[in-house]
Amino acid sequence: MTAASHASLRHDWTRQEVLDLFALPFNDLLFEAQVVHRQNFNPNQVQLSTLLSIKTGACPEDCKYCPQSGLYDTGLEKEKLLELQKVVEEARAAKASGASRFCMGAAWRSPRDKDMPAVLDMIREVKSLGLETCMTLGMLDEGQAQQLADAGLDYYNHNLDTSPEYYGEIITTRTYQDRLDTLDNVRRAGMKVCCGGIVGMGEDASDRAGLLTQLANLPQHPESVPINMLVKIKGTPLAEQDDIDPFDFIRTIAVARIMMPESYVRLSAGREEMNEQMQALAFMAGANSIFYCEKLLTTPNPKANSDMALLQRLGITPEQREIRHTSEEQEAALLQEVENQRAGQAFYNAAL
Ligand code: SF4
Repeated sequence: MTAASHASLRHDWTRQEVLDLFALPFNDLLFEAQVVHRQNFNPNQVQLSTLLSIKTGACPEDCKYCPQSGLYDTGLEKEKLLELQKVVEEARAAKASGASRFCMGAAWRSPRDKDMPAVLDMIREVKSLGLETCMTLGMLDEGQAQQLADAGLDYYNHNLDTSPEYYGEIITTRTYQDRLDTLDNVRRAGMKVCCGGIVGMGEDASDRAGLLTQLANLPQHPESVPINMLVKIKGTPLAEQDDIDPFDFIRTIAVARIMMPESYVRLSAGREEMNEQMQALAFMAGANSIFYCEKLLTTPNPKANSDMALLQRLGITPEQREIRHTSEEQEAALLQEVENQRAGQAFYNAAL
């Protein structure tokens, strides 16, 4: 199998083909992934997203990895839906430190009608700052998806988490089909899809292949594919799970890159536990997006300044997005940022 044979978009992957990719010698797999990556992206750029929890904890779902489930005693402090002003302040700070997308997550089974007006205001306000917007609010019906799209939401995140076969070991309160239905509603409403999964939950290679097969065989590849490494949280059923072999994690990124050549593959949760060498290997395998904030909803993430220092050492720069501006002042600020990047400052903010 050559890299070129993977370069076109496919939606007909078989599990065996994907397992064969996973079974390639590590260097061959990374080489293929690099070739595909370079055919589709600047290999020395990553997209930066910031994630904010807008409503924390007390979720009725039973996802076995999640500290926000109300079924597990993890000591997490619950929070009601944040005030609009607080969300806007966080979004401004994210933009100032170089993020191009602002993701907002609420621990809900699905949004209630009475929550929708506040959520729609958040989308409008964050977007008016010139940031791309993303939300993860649980399951959506068609009408809710359309409301979010009409308010200007760019991306909706809803992960498949794992293979259909392993799914029942991890979540019992919603089905795999429920998730596929939400993804379908998001697409129909015209939003971009952010959808990936978690590795290290006790699944085997066939499950990792199964997850990627599901993602790549969707009618349209998700524009963003977050690959998370389980963060083991005390009090959750997966707290004592054995560590995944780090090379298996890198393989998952590389196979995702090959199967979904035009998607952003995001190195997501679990980065705090990865050393710099492993993160560099993930970039080499085709990861080109990270969460750039000190908390991922409720779990720790590397500090923004250590991320910038690592990117600088690797010669990687944050990707610029074409974003709409609400004022000349904002446009001037972006031009200045671009100038700074050209001058080699790469958005490093010593004050962070
Ligand atoms: S992953 Fe989402 S749906 Fe599942 S328990 Fe956590 S907040 Fe709820």
